[in-house]
Amino acid sequence: MACLFCQIASGEVAANIVYKSEGVTAFRDVAPQAPTHILVIPDRHIAGAAEVTSADEVVVGRLVRVAAEAARMEGITDRGYRLIINQGHDAGQSIDHLHVHLLGGRPLPTPLV
Ligand code: AMP
Repeated sequence: MACLFCQIASGEVAANIVYKSEGVTAFRDVAPQAPTHILVIPDRHIAGAAEVTSADEVVVGRLVRVAAEAARMEGITDRGYRLIINQGHDAGQSIDHLHVHLLGGRPLPTPLV
């Protein structure tokens, strides 16, 4: 079955893309949970954090760098932001393609859960 985030990475499905380079795509979440809510994904399909292998370490590190760059572009670096990866059912992962949520632009709840 076609993976939605693979289709966004390939351009087959439209998204509000804020960054695309080096095998990584960042785009605005369609149902934002904060003033800034951006998803950062590897273009190559990785189902989730549990499927990351040593061969993925460069691109997975790049996800964090791109998320930090996106946060700078959003102007939220000084006030802070949160990066989240949901893995599996209990975490509420709904799309089986690894993605980092960048959330910010308002105070975020603590503790985390
Ligand atoms: P997760 O629950 O961690 O798997 O996160 C999946 C996220 O993808 C949710 O926050 C959704 O709102 C978001 N999402 C689903 N479909 C799209 C889409 N077509 N474009 C942008 N974001 C999407």
